[in-house]
Amino acid sequence: MRKKLVVGNWKMNMTRTQATAAIESLVLLVDPKTEVDVAICPPYLTIETVTRLLHQSHFRVGAQDVFWMGAGAFTGNVSASMLADAGCAFCIVGHSETRGRFGKLEVTASTIPYFSETDETVNLKIKALLYQSIHPILCVGETLDERNAEQTDAVIAAQLKGAFEGIEGAEFYNGVVAYEPVWAIGTGKTCDSAEASRVCGFIRAQLREILDADAADSIRILYGGSVKASNAKELFTMPDIDGGLVGGASLDPEEFSEVVRSA
Ligand code: PEP
Repeated sequence: MRKKLVVGNWKMNMTRTQATAAIESLVLLVDPKTEVDVAICPPYLTIETVTRLLHQSHFRVGAQDVFWMGAGAFTGNVSASMLADAGCAFCIVGHSETRGRFGKLEVTASTIPYFSETDETVNLKIKALLYQSIHPILCVGETLDERNAEQTDAVIAAQLKGAFEGIEGAEFYNGVVAYEPVWAIGTGKTCDSAEASRVCGFIRAQLREILDADAADSIRILYGGSVKASNAKELFTMPDIDGGLVGGASLDPEEFSEVVRSA
């Protein structure tokens, strides 16, 4: 039986002072005996603060991205060993924002190339994280144009195949995949719960083929895309959804704790 998992992705929000206040509220709001696994993915600079504050709690900490090389002349980057050293248990990879596929374009088109993560770099990042025993949270999902062209399943199948190239099922055992339809991220539009569950089921079937049945059954498949207190319960009771990757709503401790309670 897979345990539900709720992950908060703070994106590029929260100074250390704001993070301290948010975490202090959150630990009071979430029942310490909850059966749900909870993780917070703050920006790099806030990881140490959040890890220290959550040290004796059941919450885990994750990063939002990683560079795949071990060390060296890679100005501006952070390696998997640095994340492990900082206490990260999880790391998001292949988020539509780092892939440069924005749901609601809030950056000028000329900045998009700076975010251009590919299936190949996603694969390298997963391997680097696994080597450090950090659980990758692999994000996959289609844009609105791809959905309208009925390419959702094909796009996701290709993203999964690329991400797991050269990776064995046993290596990704207990890993995490998040179905994040790009058009639902930060837009307030949520994927219909039955359709979200169908796609999560499709992802598990793909994982059976790409990895193996044991690994596929152990992997938690989350839904992400405008999850909030008002829609979390419906999404999390769907048979193929093992929890949520929560962006905007994770910035408000009251709202996020309600999402955790729904799981
Ligand atoms: C996300 O950042 O992964 C996400 C799903 O964002 P939001 O909940 O704001 O749509």
